[in-house]
Amino acid sequence: MSYTAEILCVGTELLLGEILNTDAQFLCQELSALGINVYYQTVVGDNPERLERAVELAKSRSDILITTGGLGPTCDDLTKQTLARAFGKKLVFDPVSAQRIRDYFERRLHTGQMPENNLQQAMLPEGCVILQNDWGTAPGCIFESEGRHVVMLPGPPSECRPMFTHRVAPYLQALSGEVILSRSLRVFGMGESAVEQLFRARMDALTNPTLAPYAKTGEVELRITAKAADEAEARALIAPVEAEVRAKLGDLVYGADVSSLEEVVLAELRAKGLTLSCAESCTGGLIAKRLTDLPGASAVFKGGAVTYWSQAKAALLGVPQELLDQYGAVSREVAVAMAEGARRAFDSDLAVATTGVAGPDPDDRGNPVGLVFIALSTPQGTFCRRADRSMTRERVRVCAAHHAFDLLRRHLGGLPLELNLVF
Ligand code: ATP
Ligand code: MG
Repeated sequence: MSYTAEILCVGTELLLGEILNTDAQFLCQELSALGINVYYQTVVGDNPERLERAVELAKSRSDILITTGGLGPTCDDLTKQTLARAFGKKLVFDPVSAQRIRDYFERRLHTGQMPENNLQQAMLPEGCVILQNDWGTAPGCIFESEGRHVVMLPGPPSECRPMFTHRVAPYLQALSGEVILSRSLRVFGMGESAVEQLFRARMDALTNPTLAPYAKTGEVELRITAKAADEAEARALIAPVEAEVRAKLGDLVYGADVSSLEEVVLAELRAKGLTLSCAESCTGGLIAKRLTDLPGASAVFKGGAVTYWSQAKAALLGVPQELLDQYGAVSREVAVAMAEGARRAFDSDLAVATTGVAGPDPDDRGNPVGLVFIALSTPQGTFCRRADRSMTRERVRVCAAHHAFDLLRRHLGGLPLELNLVF
């Protein structure tokens, strides 16, 4: 049976535009991956009357109600009281949750001085399934009433997301009696419309599993989703479609169920015991940031230099002044010298470098916006790729960093470094 869900996000700060409703975005994606249709999304302020009205409406039209926010200890946290009232339930004290909240404060504050109002978070609707919160204090809960399933999650995304993944998704999956499994293939080097065109007929023909593309900045995700009685059966449905996609896209597929190019690069560097450094001009530290966002980067990443001015390229990386004068900072020659200079300066096995025109205006030599040279220096030599798509400043920079990671993963995987971008 297929269920419909409605997401009800509670918080005046959402209505004031102070924060973006990323919980709703996350939940919609996850619910759709579970095969649950989301027909409505509502945002209500911290106001019990309006929340109650929104709940009445939601329960008249959806099988599953998922709330976020308002589970905390402060007086504007009214979600549990309001939902319990709307479904005619009492709130009862849960001693196990109370102890967990006390323990949490003891671990976090070391003083043991927990503000007493925190115990309000241990008041939960009678007969509910309690969702323990290992990522914060407020427990969530699920109850079934009047033929509806009501799920309450905390607002902070760092709590809402893992609570959903580890506590709510298994509950919802059990409801439908089916397993829904997705496999995400990540593609760099072909734009969304080209991917779409390549697979349009197959996407239309496939029903289980389904195949769908999702555009990300400068890359594409192809998601294969299967519904089956169990996980093994779902995997068996996915496998031939994955093989078909890989056969068409070849080495443009850089990973399956991975979160980014840099994650793939980091894993490969670690596996091979190689070190990396970078020299960045137009990316301004983005490559270093993306790498160091990942835990474990210190095992392989030695460092990076942001060399924006020509003087800095010369002084810090030893880029010869003649090259800068003759070819300009945005040139193949300078990108190569930057990568080689970084490899020398940081004494790393590999180094990448970027130099280009992020825009919005052409540079003083008339190089157009979007022209970027990305170089990779290795013990076997230095390779340079040229990218020249005119885009917004942000996209130029993000894509330049993608190219640097793509060069690395191709080198590490023994693949050709050349890439004919298709858009
Ligand atoms: P707390 O215990 O922190 O009070 P809570 O469950 O009561 O958690 P809220 O008080 O509603 O949640 O929100 C706490 C914070 O969580 C907000 O200030 C905001 O930063 C974040 N947050 C809440 N709702 C959302 C949402 N829908 N999307 C993204 N962030 C949110
Ligand atoms: Mg709160």
